[in-house]
Amino acid sequence: MDKAWRFETSVLHAGYEPDEHSRSVAVPINLTAAFAFDSTEHSVELFDGKVAGHIYTRIANPTLQVLEQRIACLESGVGATVTASGQAAVTAAVLTIAGGGDNIVAASSLYGTTFNLFAHTLAQYGVETRFAPYNEPEFFAKLIDHRTKAFFCESIANPAGHVPDISSLANIAHENHIPLIVDNTVATPYLCRPIEHGADIIVHSLTKYISGHGIVLGGAVIDAGRFRWADYPERFEKLSLPDEAHHRISFTDRFGDRAYIARCASVPLRSLGAVLSPLNAFFILQGIETLPLRMDRICFNAEIICQFLEQHTAVSWVSYAASPAHPDHSRVKKYMRGKGSGVLSFGIRGGKEAGSRFHDAVKLIRRSVNIGDCKSLVCHPASTTHRQLSKEELIASGVTEDLVRLSIGTEHIQDLLSDIDQALVASQT
Ligand SMILES: *Cc1c(COP(=O)(O)O)cnc(C)c1O
Repeated sequence: MDKAWRFETSVLHAGYEPDEHSRSVAVPINLTAAFAFDSTEHSVELFDGKVAGHIYTRIANPTLQVLEQRIACLESGVGATVTASGQAAVTAAVLTIAGGGDNIVAASSLYGTTFNLFAHTLAQYGVETRFAPYNEPEFFAKLIDHRTKAFFCESIANPAGHVPDISSLANIAHENHIPLIVDNTVATPYLCRPIEHGADIIVHSLTKYISGHGIVLGGAVIDAGRFRWADYPERFEKLSLPDEAHHRISFTDRFGDRAYIARCASVPLRSLGAVLSPLNAFFILQGIETLPLRMDRICFNAEIICQFLEQHTAVSWVSYAASPAHPDHSRVKKYMRGKGSGVLSFGIRGGKEAGSRFHDAVKLIRRSVNIGDCKSLVCHPASTTHRQLSKEELIASGVTEDLVRLSIGTEHIQDLLSDIDQALVASQT
């Protein structure tokens, strides 16, 4: 892999060498559950990790490995592991270093299912999450104790659109000997590479912009390879002590700067089994090839739609961090090259009822809870993704009842503006 390649070249070539795959120009789909051994000796060497090769697709698969190397390259990481969904990636990322009795500190502006995972599901297994306002890095520091294993935030929160100060969070985390995990799904590595701003671990829902066509689910965990786990062996005992779940090895001794990603792939992912299908990895690889082209068009459309909404009488507020009017605008300039991706939310006059009327009135834009598709989508979180949250939880996660979320696609801008305008008019009657 050529480190000097620009992003637009890496999306097409990183992690793949045709000579190693029957000279196939496209990445082959290795759709197999398992791989054949030459002999008993060969199987022993494979299980002991003494020779390179494959055993079973839950452990490793050549198609998945190409996707892992490509994603690691795009995020400037040393390694990655791919998972069946974004939720599986978030779960594996936390459980690689945290267990019962431990805690993490997370920004409260989060994707709804991640909020539920942290506030409820992981809590049932003794992993506590302490929530802090996304824009107060000092508040994160106040919540730390000796069992805190990580900070967690989304680089652009879905759906609230909040942009945290990544480098301040990383600095505070590092002063306290804790890694920063960043969910970079909405920004994508085309707009933002959190590792370059101090983040230690990146997670993705590949379902969204990375694959880009709304056809498959997938996730990824990427390791920057920089956090010095071995310097804090008591805090990160899951990496430093012999692991009962994996050959009684110490991951920091065996894998050095890849300790985290090695344990992520060989313990939580392997045990919980949320493995990506090689067929889905192939679809995701097709999508990645056009990521920069799609993102340019999506950001262009979203900026124009933001300006249109800001002037519309049926709209009480617009939240798009790339807008000069947004309080996080300076952080978008610093971390995202001034671009805001395709998720934009606005408050509709008339509250929850007007929100559902708008949702009903769109004709071109599809009603869907997804984001990151080439097709534009609309979601009314108060009646869909966030309906399980209490009023207080809604406010804490930055979602109000009048909030309408748009995921802007690559259609012609005039067709999008016409559809939004007629649905806004309809929402007010
Ligand atoms: C969609 C999403 C997830 C979850 O990903 P799935 O692939 O749906 O499991 C996590 N984080 C963010 C920011 C998302 O948008």
